[in-house]
Amino acid sequence: MNGGKESLNLKAKLGLNVFKENKNFHISVNPGKENDPRLFYAVLACPAGLYSVNDAGAVELSQDGCLECGTCKIICSDEVLTWRYPDGATGVQFRFG
Ligand code: SF4
Repeated sequence: MNGGKESLNLKAKLGLNVFKENKNFHISVNPGKENDPRLFYAVLACPAGLYSVNDAGAVELSQDGCLECGTCKIICSDEVLTWRYPDGATGVQFRFG
């Protein structure tokens, strides 16, 4: 029972969100931490799939679609990532379907 509403899968629900461009992306890998093993856990845990492993075996971070959930911040810690919220009026705007 869903109250007469069609149910959407996770990908479709995420597709409803709106993202306002943030010229200064709010997450970066700290210098010298590019190969830290905690980044590989972020590949598995990021709900938006922004972390991926490239052909060279290094973790890359995409900037499109961050949900600002903070999961990667918790996993990697401030030692590995510099993480802050996006500038005002930028970033994710949630739309629940
Ligand atoms: S804050 Fe959440 S959605 Fe954004 S990159 Fe980190 S884990 Fe992914």
